Amino acid sequence: MTGPTVTFLGGVREIGGNKILVEDGPDRILFDFGPSFSPRREEFYVDFLQPRSSSPVEDLLEFDLLPRIEGLYAPEALQDSDLRWRPPEVHGLFISHAHMDHAGHLNLVDPAVPVYVGAGTKTLLDTIQASSPAMKYGTHDWRVFADRSPIKVGNLEVVPFPVDHSVPFAYGFLVRTSEGTMVYTGDFRHHGPRAPETHAFFAAAAKESPRMLIIEGTRAGSDRRKNFTEEGVRAGVDRVLDGCASIALACTYPRDVDRLRTLYAAARSAERTLLVSPRTAFLLQALGPLLTGEPVPVPGRSPGIAVYARKKRRLFEWEKPLVDGALTAREVRADGRRYLLALDLMHFPEMIDLRPPRESPFVHSMSEPFSEDDVDDKVLHNWLDHFGLRFHQMHASGHASGPELDRLIDDVGAAAVYPVHTEQPEAFRREGRPVVLPELNRPVGLR
Ligand SMILES: [Zn+2]
Repeated sequence: MTGPTVTFLGGVREIGGNKILVEDGPDRILFDFGPSFSPRREEFYVDFLQPRSSSPVEDLLEFDLLPRIEGLYAPEALQDSDLRWRPPEVHGLFISHAHMDHAGHLNLVDPAVPVYVGAGTKTLLDTIQASSPAMKYGTHDWRVFADRSPIKVGNLEVVPFPVDHSVPFAYGFLVRTSEGTMVYTGDFRHHGPRAPETHAFFAAAAKESPRMLIIEGTRAGSDRRKNFTEEGVRAGVDRVLDGCASIALACTYPRDVDRLRTLYAAARSAERTLLVSPRTAFLLQALGPLLTGEPVPVPGRSPGIAVYARKKRRLFEWEKPLVDGALTAREVRADGRRYLLALDLMHFPEMIDLRPPRESPFVHSMSEPFSEDDVDDKVLHNWLDHFGLRFHQMHASGHASGPELDRLIDDVGAAAVYPVHTEQPEAFRREGRPVVLPELNRPVGLR
């Protein structure tokens, strides 16, 4: 094939795991590099059963869970694999945002491949790596980009645009090739607190009359799960706290800063203190200075937010200053009505010490499970039932809805539309719309 091509090395008919290779003459760049949330991966690897750290590429290639390409992987990651190490043949890896399914395989990438990220994403990755012993992104030639400033990689030009998503510092990209523009959306939503950024990205995309639009479709097709706006979550939490005479519990995604802000605001107006884990406090401390708009609450600096000290035998260095002066289960239990406690599923054993009174509210501020036989969901409900807690589902998705996707696709007017990051790519098809279903590992031209 002559002219620029795009190859989908992941994210095809699966949620997450986008790996999009753009080639134009001698120039090759890649967008995103993480594991997918696909059932295909879970057929082989689950919580307790993971690829060996001594031979990660070998173990993932065995089940086609990674692309088989040379000139990308780090020599140590290739240990025992039949794929040969070659000097890097990928000239830039762009990470759209810091979620696992977009950045989680960075540790496998050759340190000599330049990795392009937003400044906030770099801080987020550093923070996650410093506070999560299991998360390693590796050593890289980091290139931090500025919003909307074009980056040249050979003859390719990439323009990163901030978009709204459920983690701060998410980007979509315009990619200018020798034969027109390709647009890659990354993950985005249309209804969040930074929606104007998403709108500006799509407006800029439409202006380019792109040859190709690669768009995420997490919520495309049939999605019966309830979805709130961020204001809707706020109103719902207000209702839950109104007149509540006991402790209130909530769980969120660990890096959903917008949701933490919402919980904080609701707790403040109900005259409660929001209690967060040391890890969340560490994240808020690091991101606080970088985020514009509504200020981010930071334990130790902002009123009405404090750290809850989980029972632990050993503290990490980074935790020590945060746990100083933190509230213990005994203190919280003595006066539960003063607190809204953010508690992850993995920290549920704290309830054994907290002993929330029966009928205390539990706000599940995360996606509803995708499937009915979701194990985590069963376990969560077993715990809530055991303690007699009242369950409330309230979540604003990080992704655009089906009708929003429809409108955006029509507004951009690209010559070809490729759905990724979705299990239902055919749900994008409409009369007269140039939808092409991507095929794994098969290059397509931009013409
Ligand atoms: Zn994603």
